[in-house]
Amino acid sequence: MTIAQALAEAARRGLARLDAQLLLLHALGRAQDDRAWLLAHDDDALDAKALGSFTALCERRAAGEPVAYLVGNKEFFGLGLQVDARVLVPRPDTEVLVEWALAVLEGRSSPSVVDLGTGSGAIALAIKHARADAKVTAVDVSPGALDVARANAGRLQLDVRFIQGRWLAAVEGRFDLLASNPPYVAEADEHLGALKHEPRMALASGPDGLDDIRAIVAQAPGHLAPGGWLLLEHGWDQAAAVRGLLSAAGFTSVASRRDLAGIERCSGGRWPERG
Ligand code: GLN
Repeated sequence: MTIAQALAEAARRGLARLDAQLLLLHALGRAQDDRAWLLAHDDDALDAKALGSFTALCERRAAGEPVAYLVGNKEFFGLGLQVDARVLVPRPDTEVLVEWALAVLEGRSSPSVVDLGTGSGAIALAIKHARADAKVTAVDVSPGALDVARANAGRLQLDVRFIQGRWLAAVEGRFDLLASNPPYVAEADEHLGALKHEPRMALASGPDGLDDIRAIVAQAPGHLAPGGWLLLEHGWDQAAAVRGLLSAAGFTSVASRRDLAGIERCSGGRWPERG
């Protein structure tokens, strides 16, 4: 079977073309950014080993496993992150949160930043990569997630401090920015079925999906420097509720930002300079 035929066969089985290409590159031991090579080698025959491993990967993909777990990595904000089933797969939507974070840090030298629920380390590492002068702390309650994040920091040679704990419970001090992509899916949301391969603790958060966001908003004022920001990712229908929680807690400049699909995906506010 040739490369072109194997990809056509995967498409017949319902796989997206890009997914099939990434899985085939992985089966061939080639880099994920080498799709041009596949096109140039359309007529090459696949050996039995590569074909067997590609077929197995396609079956797992068809059963719902994220491509990122199957190939072991995911690009986020231009960084190659290694990921596995201990962490949520970084989503492009979360890049909006990073862009907002970098905007609020502009003009502050050596800003202090905490990423709450860091998972793979995506937000913390993207900020540290863009702002080498930032003092970045990454927190997660899951030791497995912290292992993944620490390994990513090591590979990317980014100097980030890691703390195990539930939100800010194990963190001391006040910071210029607290950023988080917490779990925010409602426990009964049928959408969770499609995400069954990812850690439930990184996804679901109580009956309305807001339990963890409420906990973070409650803890944040004790850990923000005057004028510091809290930025949160949340669900497609939660922006008004999150803005309400932030305003009720005393935050100012409360606002939301839209993701790539035009949905209000992040909300945040500034802790007042005084009071
Ligand atoms: N954005 C994810 C999804 O709904 C959820 C991520 C999260 O809960 N932080 O697919």
